[in-house]
Amino acid sequence: MEVSRSRIVANYNAIRTVVGSAAVMGVVKADAYGHGMAEVADILEGAGIRWLAVSSVSEGVALREAGSRARILIMAGFLPDECEALTAYDLTPAIHSLDDARVLAESAPHRPWHLKVDTGLARLGVRNGLEGVLAALPRPPEGLMTHLASPSDLGSLQTVHQLEAFAQATQRCEAMGIRPPWRHTASTNAIAYPRSPEWRRAAWHNLVRPGHALYGYVSPARPAPAAPVLRVAPALQWKARILAVKDIPEGAPVGYGATFHASHPMRLGVVAAGYADGLPHQLSNRGRMIAGDRLVPIVGTVSMDLTTIDLTAVPQVGVGDAVMILGDNGGVALDAQQVARLAGTISYDLLCGIGPRVKRIYVD
Ligand SMILES: *Cc1c(COP(=O)(O)O)cnc(C)c1O
Repeated sequence: MEVSRSRIVANYNAIRTVVGSAAVMGVVKADAYGHGMAEVADILEGAGIRWLAVSSVSEGVALREAGSRARILIMAGFLPDECEALTAYDLTPAIHSLDDARVLAESAPHRPWHLKVDTGLARLGVRNGLEGVLAALPRPPEGLMTHLASPSDLGSLQTVHQLEAFAQATQRCEAMGIRPPWRHTASTNAIAYPRSPEWRRAAWHNLVRPGHALYGYVSPARPAPAAPVLRVAPALQWKARILAVKDIPEGAPVGYGATFHASHPMRLGVVAAGYADGLPHQLSNRGRMIAGDRLVPIVGTVSMDLTTIDLTAVPQVGVGDAVMILGDNGGVALDAQQVARLAGTISYDLLCGIGPRVKRIYVD
């Protein structure tokens, strides 16, 4: 895997340009969506980012140990036995419940914290009793946040309703004399698809939390196509080598279960990548790779370590050559959204699933 530093910086700058005065918190959970958390954090900090977000305390500890000097928000919360690490590694938790607040009040009462309210996703966040949570901690929250369920669905009112609920939560804080300095609700799709002229105030506030866009992706709008205001480009290319090439006669079966039979005499390439590397098994007889200057089909089943492709149309490609699973060779391109669609999943899943066996290389 080749990750382009300049692409990540360009994507970060594209987000900054769109959101204007709002600060950007870079979401680097799940090993930066497969791109390598420590390296991506380093790239973003080099570009001036002040806030990073991860899911768990263990990710936060790993990020700090890798040398990050940014503020680190732990979005998915913490368990009581992880409280000490919050202080030791200077991590900032999101508080989702009265129980969370009590645990923090007991073991790390002076930690800065963000209050997460559930405005409709029904995942983490305080749904009722916001006042009780505020009263349980000695210091007011540094941030008030929520997470949106359907920001790329422009036909749904759910985002509007969630933002109204967020505005009400803000007012309930104010009624207690609390004005959290940071307010944040927008992940990638809420940055890419502003729904009204007041969007900056309604959705971006003074901080946004993109993940996917940093890596070069915005989900397509539903229910009808719409152009995002945010333009980003994929930051990684995923390549693998051809280990063997062979000619097979018409009618020959290919791979486990003989799910493919050569329709004509074929030249096959055996590629050193399989589902153990994160190449979805669902791409069996469906997927494509870039070989030479063309898209060529995957034939037979994707196996654990190896995948066979049809090289009949690209005789110049041989043993030792690299093929692209994700990438752009100037003429043809395959991005994670296209490949994920063929595999019946989403780009997030595909990117996060690229395995540790795939060597990460960082290029300019
Ligand atoms: C993952 C996550 C994000 C980033 O979402 P993208 O769609 O990748 O931009 C933002 N906020 C929360 C709470 C998340 O869990």
